[in-house]
Amino acid sequence: MTLTEKELLAKVPTKLYIGGNWVTGHGEKPIAVEDPATGKVLLEIANATAEDGLAALTAAADAQVQWAKTAPRERSEILRRTFELVRSRSEEFAMLISMEMGKPLAEARGEVAYGNEFLRWFAEEAVRITGRYGVSPEGTGRMLVAQRPVGPAFAITPWNFPLAMATRKIGPALAAGCTMVVKPAELTPLTTLLLVATLEEAGLPAGVVNVITTSTSSATSAPIISDSRLRKITFTGSTEVGVRLLEQSAKQVLRTSMELGGNAPFVVFEDADLDAAVSGAMLAKLRNIGQACTAANRFIVHDSVAEDFANRMAEQMSQMPLGRGLDPDTKIGPVINQKARENLERLVKTTLSEGAAVVTGGKSTDGAGYFFEPTVLMDVKPGSTILGEEIFGPIAPIVRFKTEKEAIDLANDTVYGLVSYAYTQDLKRGLRLIEQLDTGMTGLNTGLVSNAAAPFGGVKQSGLGREGGLEGINEYLETKYVMIPDPSN
Ligand code: NAD
Repeated sequence: MTLTEKELLAKVPTKLYIGGNWVTGHGEKPIAVEDPATGKVLLEIANATAEDGLAALTAAADAQVQWAKTAPRERSEILRRTFELVRSRSEEFAMLISMEMGKPLAEARGEVAYGNEFLRWFAEEAVRITGRYGVSPEGTGRMLVAQRPVGPAFAITPWNFPLAMATRKIGPALAAGCTMVVKPAELTPLTTLLLVATLEEAGLPAGVVNVITTSTSSATSAPIISDSRLRKITFTGSTEVGVRLLEQSAKQVLRTSMELGGNAPFVVFEDADLDAAVSGAMLAKLRNIGQACTAANRFIVHDSVAEDFANRMAEQMSQMPLGRGLDPDTKIGPVINQKARENLERLVKTTLSEGAAVVTGGKSTDGAGYFFEPTVLMDVKPGSTILGEEIFGPIAPIVRFKTEKEAIDLANDTVYGLVSYAYTQDLKRGLRLIEQLDTGMTGLNTGLVSNAAAPFGGVKQSGLGREGGLEGINEYLETKYVMIPDPSN
């Protein structure tokens, strides 16, 4: 039976989770979590200080030895049980994601399926951590190589995928035998709190995962990062904050995983299946109301099909009802807050002053909530401001190109390198693009690449390391090598 919104909110813990206890934070004022579709407060939750952050690290450090010793099968089963519990309550998780983040319920259901998959995937990976044993080249020794957990990890997550960004870190860390302090974004912390209550219910021992919610991210995180008990930081968020955290991590020579910003090119060639390209574009642009690191940020379209492509996108976009995520008619939710909306207004204004034209949308809507119309901007000039920034909203700028080389140069003309999308029916051209697009991931004739079984991550200023896939667990493992003399002598 589906819960009412009130019943669901009553299930969400509102305290910090430290050492297996739900405790009050020492911050002066609680954090008020808003519904971005109405601007109303959903819940008030605990606000951690630096002292609370260090208490969480102490709990994680104290639990580390025992958790690393826990049998991989047992670690695996805790993750698997959590996966089953989340699956059985997927509607509750989806509602909560939609309420605190704003995405339509159908998309929130998609996030639950995707995010929960990391728990299942890493439950399976926990029992496949391997090593090797071999004869040294000169034959006089035996070489043993083992994998050990890195140690206590600090995970900092963004607001845009409240469940998936948490499970993508918690899954591999627990599977590898690392304990954690998790700090969700202050804008959407409720889903992580509900997830951790679920991990607790699934039998996670005290201290293995600790959660701090705080309105003072920098002041609360810095002492954790400079504490010698911490061994790893795993961050998903903006490149700007990632760079600061890398600087702080350098002092302790921490292992770091950084999933940072994106500026994805979406390239459409003259030989593309245009219907497929338009539906891929709608997905890559409007998933999460354009607020995804993988969102198509620059549409680079062959001159001969650009007009047609823009008109088809605009037609579909103009028919998508805006509304609160839980309303069944809603296709587009609000952006996260007023600051985000003002940034979109600035980007449209600047792009128009730089010579582009509006095909559809282009402005905020009146009334409550932070809504912005889905927007197509045509004839955006190479070098325009919008092409150099992460838009993080439902705006599609379209740039024309004439040659393949021009398209590739435009696509690679960014400091980011997370994902690229390309539409062509020419196999050879597709292979050339895969080789030349300077991104960690490419969607070839598809607008969606995310999958728990795939290594997600970027190059250039989009980050370091990979999450998910066979690679994901390596971020939480250290290699230990042992030399042993030839046992036959
Ligand atoms: P953000 O960088 O503002 O915040 C991310 C997290 O860092 C939040 O929890 C925030 O509270 C915390 N934070 C901010 N300043 C901090 C500091 N000084 N010390 C410690 N923690 C700090 O990003 P956001 O607005 O929450 O998320 C949007 C960004 O995240 C976009 O740039 C997007 O591309 C990126 N993102 C990347 C991926 C990826 O996998 N590459 C996935 C999702 C989002």
